[in-house]
Amino acid sequence: MDLLSPEVQTEILKCVKCRTCLPSCPTFAELDVEMDSPRGRIALAKALSEGKISVTEKLIGHFYCCLDCRACETVCPSGVKYGEIIESARAYVEVHREHRKLERFLKDLFLRRIFPHPGRLEGLARLLRFYQRSGLQSLVRRFHLARILGGNLEELERMTPAISDRSSRSTLPPVIPPEDGIRYRVALLLGCMTDISFAHLNEATVRVLSRNGCEVLTVKEQTCCGALQVHNGDSPTAREMARHNLRVFEESGADYIIVNAAGCGAMLKEYGFLLGDDPDDRSRAQSFSSRVRDISEFLIDVVEAHGGLRGTLHPIPRRVAYHDACHLAHGQRVRKQPRKLLRAIPELELVEIKESDWCCGSAGIYNITNYEMSMRLLDRKMDHLAKTDAGIIAAANPGCMIQLELGVKKRGLPMKVLHPVELLDMSYRGQVPDR
Ligand code: SF4
Ligand code: SF4
Repeated sequence: MDLLSPEVQTEILKCVKCRTCLPSCPTFAELDVEMDSPRGRIALAKALSEGKISVTEKLIGHFYCCLDCRACETVCPSGVKYGEIIESARAYVEVHREHRKLERFLKDLFLRRIFPHPGRLEGLARLLRFYQRSGLQSLVRRFHLARILGGNLEELERMTPAISDRSSRSTLPPVIPPEDGIRYRVALLLGCMTDISFAHLNEATVRVLSRNGCEVLTVKEQTCCGALQVHNGDSPTAREMARHNLRVFEESGADYIIVNAAGCGAMLKEYGFLLGDDPDDRSRAQSFSSRVRDISEFLIDVVEAHGGLRGTLHPIPRRVAYHDACHLAHGQRVRKQPRKLLRAIPELELVEIKESDWCCGSAGIYNITNYEMSMRLLDRKMDHLAKTDAGIIAAANPGCMIQLELGVKKRGLPMKVLHPVELLDMSYRGQVPDR
């Protein structure tokens, strides 16, 4: 949606500058700078749309310092949809800014030429898999070769997630039948990074759904959700991806579209806003979004509420600390369902952490583009997690899981990071994680 559109302008004008959101904003808490607060960024977006300021590197810095974590939306008494404002503002500056050549090349390569195309992403996964399995990665790490290239490259290299042996797109069949009679027909969003780095998570999700009477469709024609593109100001590419996904998921005939990555779920639920410029697309997208559910939301609000979870859950006698992914807690207002799911596992002890819905610093590719701030936020999160004495951290978003695993490694903590649905799957299978 355009920054100058009536919808976005209405959101901007809803801000009464009350400052209620400031204490909830991680970047304001770290920097104590008004222009790095929600209120400050809304004021900048307003001035920009009125032509009172122009696009400068400083302005771009304030817009991209935002995590798009939406914690400000949760507390705003005026109901300002801040996410819509910042995403429109970023799209505006991307059109009007002077790009550095390297930055333009990298954005074009990853956001437009690789991520929207599952085949090319699979090719990238093959290269990374070779790098990680051939011994090359060990050499680079042992002799600190990435440091030679300068910048934060060594730290960034350490953040590269392990690539799965095979993508879930290649291991999962097109249709997985339900165990013991069909209750629902659902389609699973395979994701981009989830597909190539968390194939085991998609497989666990499918097993849990099938056990609970779902026929699961993997809709191989689907593409990535477009969140990376939207958060980085490339709405035109995201719109193309959204239209494609709308079509293929509509054709699948699924009752629900199930998502196990918080950021992707929030994106699919906002296709109506993304495609809002066209009334036909908008109403189709709104109908599609009304059928999107996070996996915990589906299992608790739909399956458990209408007959209960099926099958026997075996004990997992482990202490588990739950981290609220921003795009689940703030973006989708899903907080109690993952906790209920974890509490359903016999002998599992769920512990709350301080500031559980404070961003861990992952935020899509924020940990690459704003490395220093990302690490400050990770440190804050790990301080709280270290005090819980838990052996397992549960988080419902692969991006957070990668970031938290980095935090665990950096501190040498005896902790393991798992998705709530992985724990549920283990409980069904009588497995106990080793922490
Ligand atoms: S809480 Fe809402 S209305 Fe108040 S300053 Fe923040 S965004 Fe504006
Ligand atoms: S989205 Fe998060 S980082 Fe951005 S202004 Fe709101 S609270 Fe602050």
